[in-house]
Amino acid sequence: MAARVIDGKAVAGRLRGRVAARVAALPFRPGLRVVRVGDDPASGVYVRNKDRAALAAGFDSATLRLPADTAEAALLDLVGELNEDPAVDGILVQLPLPPHIRQEAVVDAVRPDKDVDGFHPVNAGLLSTRQRSLVPCTPKGVMHLLREAGVALPGARAVVLGRSQIVGRPMLQLLLDADCTVTVAHSRTRDLRAECRRADVLIAAVGRPEMVRGDWIAPGAAVIDVGINRSPDGRLVGDVAFAEAVGHAGAITPVPGGVGPMTIACLLENTLIAALRRRGEGS
Ligand code: NDP
Repeated sequence: MAARVIDGKAVAGRLRGRVAARVAALPFRPGLRVVRVGDDPASGVYVRNKDRAALAAGFDSATLRLPADTAEAALLDLVGELNEDPAVDGILVQLPLPPHIRQEAVVDAVRPDKDVDGFHPVNAGLLSTRQRSLVPCTPKGVMHLLREAGVALPGARAVVLGRSQIVGRPMLQLLLDADCTVTVAHSRTRDLRAECRRADVLIAAVGRPEMVRGDWIAPGAAVIDVGINRSPDGRLVGDVAFAEAVGHAGAITPVPGGVGPMTIACLLENTLIAALRRRGEGS
């Protein structure tokens, strides 16, 4: 039987709607500032989409654009100003940055309570010690999708493909906290197919077009495809060979229209959470 396709656009739309309704009831507009250095075209589309979604949900949102040759010190100064600005609740510095700027230095400069990307080491540490943190948007979006799709998590065997700081590692924490038994696989893992075949829940975040084949998937497994890749023939594809996988999985996200829309919706949710916490409200 063909897998149920999880509609990320619809789930993200509902989440954005819930966030917008909460923002509309506030006596202030949560402030989001996206900082973009240079003009990488892929980030350009993404930043425009963030801005549009934030404004539509009632946020005070703006994108600050800096030229590609901006010095690291000037970017750090701007982050410092945003850290101090009481109208700003969330700061997102769009990655990747030009090679002359140390990404880590910039990520570390953002105030943890305004770090709506959840990349600051303080937020990573809080997440790994099960304390209140701002959770990275993409893994958080994956958890929303699993819950909305009704996937039973306690006791499930989860396999995460990829161990990056922004997807794989926080994914491990979130699945563990949802009582899954989690395996994290990576480029040095032996026999990836066998690891994947064991999964009740498979999260693919490797950045390799259609690497996960249909026969890597256990019958009825839930498959969440985080990958966004261009195939050699120019199509946008995930890390999972979707056409094969639908014949094996129980539920699966498509690319596009799966995890992608959730990332922006979770950015809005994080900005709302940051705004409420800064005013001593919310959890
Ligand atoms: P990274 O390149 O930072 O990490 C990739 C991970 O995959 C690494 O841990 C790497 O292992 C592992 N890996 C790479 N090749 C293989 C292989 N052949 N076999 C097993 N493991 C492998 O990528 P990101 O985590 O940033 O992103 C992953 C994918 O998710 C990309 O396609 C990206 O575009 C997409 N993405 C989508 C988002 C969304 O909004 N939907 C947001 C963020 C990312 P090792 O550590 O050993 O090198």
